[in-house]
Amino acid sequence: MARPAVTCPGRPSCVHLTVPAPPLPVPDPGRGPTRIGILGGTFDPVHVGHLVAAVNVHYELSLDRLLLVVANEPWQKVGARPVTPARHRLALVEAAVSGCDGLEASSMEIDRGGVSYTADTLDELEAANPGAELYLVIGADVAGMLGTWERIDEVRARVRLVVVNRPGTASVDAGLLAGWDVSIVEIPALEISSSDLRDRAATGRPLDFLVPSEAIRVIRERSLYVVER
Ligand code: ATP
Ligand code: MG
Repeated sequence: MARPAVTCPGRPSCVHLTVPAPPLPVPDPGRGPTRIGILGGTFDPVHVGHLVAAVNVHYELSLDRLLLVVANEPWQKVGARPVTPARHRLALVEAAVSGCDGLEASSMEIDRGGVSYTADTLDELEAANPGAELYLVIGADVAGMLGTWERIDEVRARVRLVVVNRPGTASVDAGLLAGWDVSIVEIPALEISSSDLRDRAATGRPLDFLVPSEAIRVIRERSLYVVER
């Protein structure tokens, strides 16, 4: 029960009120299930191409959360080139999304350990968020490789696929994605890749405005990408 207002002696204009606690958010029954976006990647390093994709998909599809899921062992890349230890890549993504509403760095694949398969990540997300709708976000360059993914039929059955355009890759061929529930989201085309950024860092060229400044600070503090890979 609210307490009565109290007036300070000698200062009649100063009134103390007991302010009731703000009400808990009431779930909006018309809003439907929680909508969670998943942008998986190696993020070696994260760059504004990833972030522009993430914020635009978050906005266009009215997602509640968009997780940038940092791969522990990206099976497509291990063996092909040295991959920066996962804890550093996670720190870069955490720095990059700090203060960016709706975007979250996720360590779930790192916490799980071993090789990172999206099918396992979906298992975990479904268990932790019963009833949520899962939106798997990929760049157009990844669309042609989906057939090589582990347990791809399970993935197809459980997500809505979101494809964003990426310079250097033609727009997605609908036949390639037959059977998927798919949305195409047009984003500002940014010709930026982690491969180019690793090369830039190793040869002393600037990363500024291609990588968020908070993440550049982490790269410098930890002396990452100083050796050409
Ligand atoms: P690398 O050059 O090492 O492969 P990358 O820049 O492709 O790095 P990844 O971590 O492989 O980054 O990509 C994660 C996801 O982000 C993928 O789905 C990829 O298609 C998407 N993506 C990366 N860069 C862009 C970009 N510039 N525009 C749109 N999507 C992007
Ligand atoms: Mg890539």
